Amino acid sequence: MTETYRVYAIKYGHREAKRGDHFLGGDPDGERSMPMDYFVWLAQSDEHTFVIDTGYTEEVGTRRGRPWLRQPADGLRMLGVEANDVQDVVITHLHFDHIGTIQDFPNAKIHIQEKELQFVVGPAMFTPAKHSFETDEIDRVVTALHEGRVNLIDGSQELAPGFSVHHVGGHTGGTQVVRVHTERGWVVLASDSSHYYENFEKKRPFSIAWEPERSLAAFKALYALADSEQHIVPGHDPMVLDRYAAPSPELEGIVVRLDVAPKQ
Ligand SMILES: [Zn+2]
Repeated sequence: MTETYRVYAIKYGHREAKRGDHFLGGDPDGERSMPMDYFVWLAQSDEHTFVIDTGYTEEVGTRRGRPWLRQPADGLRMLGVEANDVQDVVITHLHFDHIGTIQDFPNAKIHIQEKELQFVVGPAMFTPAKHSFETDEIDRVVTALHEGRVNLIDGSQELAPGFSVHHVGGHTGGTQVVRVHTERGWVVLASDSSHYYENFEKKRPFSIAWEPERSLAAFKALYALADSEQHIVPGHDPMVLDRYAAPSPELEGIVVRLDVAPKQ
């Protein structure tokens, strides 16, 4: 039977940025402020717990000029989840801000697209696309693969009833999105297939688009997988924290519930 999940966005980082940073080809109002938030996500049913992405480490964030707020594992602990106990981690793609703290989840199976692993060990890494990857973080995934802890996905896969992943590509060779069943219907975690609401609403790909046509097709996939536009959750938009409610007053500004309909 299809399981019903509680879904959380947990903010772990933030940086100042401009509109011109976020749209392929720039923006007419490029100097205007448009900050970026950094999230990991948690999906929990009565039977399953999935962590989606693992953020960046303090060291890498600091080196790359991304202020670091908390270790993603500490954010999960605020929701009663111990990283050590987590059995399943979905990695939407291998950029440093999505794979960074995978070492905090030593007992988890890592669910990743086969195409993403090929991407980071192939000729794309001779191009500036390499910039968003950390070599030792890729090494960690290869090590986990050799240890039998990686599930290589080719396209779409249901990981549990009511929880599936889907390759969309575009941003990187193997970017995937998550579709999860909740009380308000099918929610889609777009991750970096759409950093901001404005990317998918206006059909304007983010500035980092390995295959721009696939980035455009990814927007279509988001709409096809989600029950409505209100069920699509972008990967880096500070507005997510405004639109959804915190699960408790203490978590205000850090965590929101995505399985409860947005306030606006
Ligand atoms: Zn990202």
